[in-house]
Amino acid sequence: MIRYIWFDLGLTLVGNNHAAIYQKVLADLGVKKEINEVECAYHLANKYFMREHPGCLGKKEGVRGYLEKLMEYLQLGRETQRFLIGMEQENPSVCWRKFPFTDGVLNRLHQRGIKTGLISNWDHSCRRVLEENGLLSLMDTVVISSEAGCEKPDRRIFERALLLAGVEPSECLYVGDNYYDDAVGASAAGMRTLLINPPGRLGIEELKFPDVIESIQDVERYTYD
Ligand SMILES: [Mg+2]
Repeated sequence: MIRYIWFDLGLTLVGNNHAAIYQKVLADLGVKKEINEVECAYHLANKYFMREHPGCLGKKEGVRGYLEKLMEYLQLGRETQRFLIGMEQENPSVCWRKFPFTDGVLNRLHQRGIKTGLISNWDHSCRRVLEENGLLSLMDTVVISSEAGCEKPDRRIFERALLLAGVEPSECLYVGDNYYDDAVGASAAGMRTLLINPPGRLGIEELKFPDVIESIQDVERYTYD
């Protein structure tokens, strides 16, 4: 019986405007790309970094390598230098906004008596992002790496969350989009895990992991198992 569902934050409960920023910088360089092409390259670059450079995504030191990979996926490798300069000049402000379905899913779970929590690798801006999106009040427990002093996939961050909530791992589901941080870590802590990926297995072809879902909208059907 599932009593508690834990969520990752980035690309699980909230999305961002990265692809739109990249598209604009490219357009300023005279390179026209459709937003879905840029979104696809963004997805593939994320998956590559999750697999090959664990712990680097979203951190300052990994940015250059990340943008180079993104340009490779856009088949614009020769434009990389100009793109990097363009990104510096743009000084982009990334914003994180909840998906249109996030509130509905969380509210329906609560109505059925299922509690929800957050386990996120995030810096000190995490609570602000939650607050701005009205998500703080929808979380029964919040555990953030920058506050906890350990980060996913370290099982200690999951165990800390379980202890705070007073639940057993067997009563929980964990949902996230990063196999190497989310699924590996939560499984090691004894939780069943669902992995978010867009339709199909684009970018995660190497994984044998069975429980791949398209978004948190698919979570509810796993709560009856
Ligand atoms: Mg994520």
